[in-house]
Amino acid sequence: MFTEISRKEIKNELVQKLHEISGQDVFDCYQCGNCSSGCPVVDYMDINPNQVLRLAQYGKIQDILESETIWVCSTCLQCSSRCPKGIDVAKLMEAFRTINLRAGLGIVDPRKLDVENKDELPPILLVCAMRKLTG
Ligand code: SF4
Ligand code: SF4
Repeated sequence: MFTEISRKEIKNELVQKLHEISGQDVFDCYQCGNCSSGCPVVDYMDINPNQVLRLAQYGKIQDILESETIWVCSTCLQCSSRCPKGIDVAKLMEAFRTINLRAGLGIVDPRKLDVENKDELPPILLVCAMRKLTG
């Protein structure tokens, strides 16, 4: 399959916002896969961490923002410690969540949670909800 990617798309507004929030340069990634191979929750993700980096390099930030992966990430920092290029992948995951939360997306109101289901929720969801909804 042939996909055309323009310079404009690679440097789009969301790419710049991601860089501003995270301070990370996704173009440093050379796809070694160390981040994904060490991630304890990769089996629950719909896009592996190294694939997140590749999509970001292509400017496909919206695809990442709509993924389960950024919410499944538990911020364990394993990926960040394993990256030979010094990319703080966990910080990127946090930045994706931040972009969504600033847009009012991905917010969970803990007061409305079905108590029976709470054990199935990624802990980061609750953390994000508490950050957003408590002073
Ligand atoms: S910080 Fe997130 S993406 Fe990185 S290894 Fe941990 S769970 Fe996986
Ligand atoms: S470990 Fe670093 S360089 Fe390797 S794929 Fe992950 S982000 Fe890219």
